[in-house]
Amino acid sequence: MPVNPQILGKLEHSQKALETPPLEHPTPPAKLPSRNPTRSFWINSSPDANPLAGKGSQGPLPSEADVCIIGAGITGVGVAYHLIELLNNASLSVTRPLRIVILEARDFCSGATGRNGGHLTPAAFLEFAQRQALFDTGEAIKSYKLEQHTASLLVKIIEENGWASDIDFVEGGHINLLFSEKEARNAHKDFDMARQAQLNLDGVEWLSKEEVEEEYGAPYPGFREPGRNVWPLKLVTKLYQHAQAHAGQYASLSLHTRTPVTAVMHETADNSSTYTVVTNRSNISCSRVVHATNAYASYLLPFLAGPNGIIPTRGQVMATRASVGADQIKIPSWSGNEGFAYWFPRPVKHDTEKPLIIIGGGREAVAPNYELYVDDDSETHSLVGKALREFLPSVFEGKYDPDSEPEMEWTGIMGYTRMGDPFVGPVANLLVANPDGDLHKKQYIAAGYAGHGMPRAFGCAEVIAQMIHAEISDKEWKEPDWLPQRYLTWNRRVE
Ligand SMILES: Cc1cc2nc3c(=O)[nH]c(=O)nc-3n(C[C@H](O)[C@H](O)[C@H](O)COP(=O)(O)OP(=O)(O)OC[C@H]3O[C@@H](n4cnc5c(N)ncnc54)[C@H](O)[C@@H]3O)c2cc1C
Repeated sequence: MPVNPQILGKLEHSQKALETPPLEHPTPPAKLPSRNPTRSFWINSSPDANPLAGKGSQGPLPSEADVCIIGAGITGVGVAYHLIELLNNASLSVTRPLRIVILEARDFCSGATGRNGGHLTPAAFLEFAQRQALFDTGEAIKSYKLEQHTASLLVKIIEENGWASDIDFVEGGHINLLFSEKEARNAHKDFDMARQAQLNLDGVEWLSKEEVEEEYGAPYPGFREPGRNVWPLKLVTKLYQHAQAHAGQYASLSLHTRTPVTAVMHETADNSSTYTVVTNRSNISCSRVVHATNAYASYLLPFLAGPNGIIPTRGQVMATRASVGADQIKIPSWSGNEGFAYWFPRPVKHDTEKPLIIIGGGREAVAPNYELYVDDDSETHSLVGKALREFLPSVFEGKYDPDSEPEMEWTGIMGYTRMGDPFVGPVANLLVANPDGDLHKKQYIAAGYAGHGMPRAFGCAEVIAQMIHAEISDKEWKEPDWLPQRYLTWNRRVE
């Protein structure tokens, strides 16, 4: 597959948070997800939140599969979902259904997807100028097209299946608060450049400081963009159940939780081009492997450890009660403080009810480390927690009690990359010298969303499913027009 030199030459770009990474030499690979994670609102606040928690954790594992997906977050479940849709739509003549197996180290969807901030907000234009300068206009536009594609597809699926109220789906818009003049200047520049490039900016509206203050009580200017929030675990549960119900004659889908994969090895003895996927229960012989392990990818692919690969980065979130009614908080979701803080109110039954706010961020309190290279979600960080507790009372005077303690507080592990964008495609292409070509040939990866995965992961999962489907049907994979070139593994190098 052709390498895009324009993208390869620009990999030195680093995100703000990665400018001074606290490097250990050599950086160790991620560990397996911790056994005793903190309790998240999405997983633990209600007894029926995770009906698939321990599914397939008992009894024998299948001994063979055609596609083994490692990781049951939105990416892993998304690959299964899309593959089944593609198989059903193609109606190929099959001798037997494609056997798809999902293996998950802990409970179903207990990684980042079950522990995140709940925002499903495609970026509208922020960072456009930077991307246009680094890549080119077409590539910059695709950054936003992919997010719009992914979010609209999820919305379509939610609406067509009538899931909205089951998964607390709220289309309340998203407001970005601009705390400093520099932030405001950059945002306006991004907007102007994006408009000149004819990026779709429908639904973007600038808000003056006075407008924000009058309507919401925060003394900062900002802009509104289309945005939604959701109970992410419930969405992914629905996607899994939908995929399984539609597997039909073309596929079979099984899920095995509490089954960490400890190695992927190539079976060479019989020349059969299959992999042995090693788990704590038994081994599975698989023709294809998908790494949907996000922050933990380097555990099985150690060459992804380090600043050019996928950097586990701990994020912290809490659920805190407002001290005024929902009528004074309103429904949009928010971000502020250069994107470090993000929050939204949970839906309420009546207007005067004090809503529970889900707020994440606070990593600026632990600069310059920013919780980079931390892969343990069994603990919270006290300084990050302090920053989170102080944030809302300081921005919205009188609406939050500075002395109130959060009802829940938890952490989750994000997968950062130097570029801020994920790796999508065959694993083999990430290796320049490709010493283990055969080992990685039919292994795929979609991982490294840098803390912004809800409007990207499901689209990247679609790409992986398309690639596998093309390979199975002996056709050439056709690149979707919404996919940034730089996401593709053959345009990236990690060594
Ligand atoms: C605190 C926090 C807040 C966030 N807030 C937002 C937000 O509001 N909006 C947004 O868009 N994005 C947000 N994100 C990012 C978003 O949640 C992720 O990008 C997205 O969920 C990634 O999905 P995934 O399926 O790739 O990874 P995950 O959901 O992490 O799934 C990977 C799975 O792989 C499993 N696994 C790992 N290794 C193995 C192994 N060896 N064997 C078997 N299983 C394994 C893990 O247990 C995990 O369940 C946030 C992330 C965090 C942590």
